[in-house]
Amino acid sequence: MKLDTRVLRHLTAEDWRVLAAVEQGTKNHENVPTPLIEKLSRLKGGASGVHKSISALAKAGLIAKLKDAKYDGYRLTYGGLDYLALHTHASRKHVYSVGSRVGVGKESDIMIVADDKGTQKILKIHRLGRISFRTVKSNRDYLKNKSGSGSWMYLSRLAAMKEFAFMQALREEGFPVPEPIAQSRHTIVMNLIDAPPLRQISSVPDPATLYAELISLILRLAKHGLIHGDFNEFNILIKETNTTPTTPAASNSGEVETKNKHSQPSQQETKLDQQEERKGEAEITLVPVLIDFPQMVSMEHQNAEMYFDRDVNCIKSFFKKRFHFVSTVPGPFFKDAKKTVGKDGAKRLDASVAASGFTKKMLKDLEAAIREQQQTIEEKEAGADSDGDSDEFKGEDSEEDDDGERDEDEGQESLNVLVIPSSSALENEDI
Ligand code: ADP
Ligand code: MG
Repeated sequence: MKLDTRVLRHLTAEDWRVLAAVEQGTKNHENVPTPLIEKLSRLKGGASGVHKSISALAKAGLIAKLKDAKYDGYRLTYGGLDYLALHTHASRKHVYSVGSRVGVGKESDIMIVADDKGTQKILKIHRLGRISFRTVKSNRDYLKNKSGSGSWMYLSRLAAMKEFAFMQALREEGFPVPEPIAQSRHTIVMNLIDAPPLRQISSVPDPATLYAELISLILRLAKHGLIHGDFNEFNILIKETNTTPTTPAASNSGEVETKNKHSQPSQQETKLDQQEERKGEAEITLVPVLIDFPQMVSMEHQNAEMYFDRDVNCIKSFFKKRFHFVSTVPGPFFKDAKKTVGKDGAKRLDASVAASGFTKKMLKDLEAAIREQQQTIEEKEAGADSDGDSDEFKGEDSEEDDDGERDEDEGQESLNVLVIPSSSALENEDI
């Protein structure tokens, strides 16, 4: 499943209205009855216009017939929801064009987009349910009784809402995270961080400093009541900033360069120490930028200690494996971090996000879904011939994904211009 924008330019204003009507109907009907679609789309041309749009949308895979449906109707597909979200971002001038896909996370697609001034941004499309829920038959309770939409839509939207709320709260507190720009449905627009993930970095001049910085980031989050929950080498981007020293002597402050002589970096990996050599006397500061927040948990969570330790250990084992660096300082330990929560006037971000309209039930639903998705991934990775290095996770796609040709434009470089209908077709945006 990936975003396919090829049909975008061919949709008429009527098609958009009908698509929005299916989305609206989806709130109360898993299978939106065709007469209801007609009613909700309020097209001047009446039923025949609606039917024309329905067949165009169905052909494009934006809506689909439900298997074994008892009456004539349609449901929204992931593709349909993608289009609606893009349309909202476009009409708010956050996105003008869609470029290539930069990453396929396990729970998301990451696209480069640009606004009408050509400023590049990141569009993150949440895909909870990309990996079929059918594979884990236990643990399905939370999927029951979801009105209408089918849980993938509800859960992916929750993931985007939660991630956006946390990104905003963290940003306000001065944490190094991308700037959240907009959220619509299951998608987020944020600024593009021009930096590779830690995963792609084969060696750094001074692992101890970077390690200390990352640990202090974990502790700073804890002080604000939060645990990232997935603090790993994929979710930490490493920005390189050049600071030219004032005196030549200052440029080489005697720090021991720890080169990783044993690893066999892939071609994509970046040797930051070599770059430093090339740049001569300039000093390079590595600034970590944290991303990926749907799984964040409170320091008060019942499994907080496990999540905290897991984040710490992730960094420890990565530094050991990649940079052969082991800190001489033990910990940090959860019990010590717990004592710092809210200290020195640190704002409790867990509480402020919980107060921002995210109900306990929403958090629980999302948490259960993320846990289930992770279990499924682990099971699949354990079973498959995965070397653990692949960014591309070929999960079993949900039933929405039946066009079979979405990978065609893999690696495309060109930008597709989004066509926005002149009339405001979407009056029922649900953001
Ligand atoms: P997932 O939840 O699927 O893991 P992430 O938010 O971690 O998604 O993003 C996946 C990858 O996409 C990251 O590892 C990173 O390479 C890239 N990415 C995500 N957000 C940004 C951003 N704002 N700027 C640059 N690259 C990003
Ligand atoms: Mg990630």
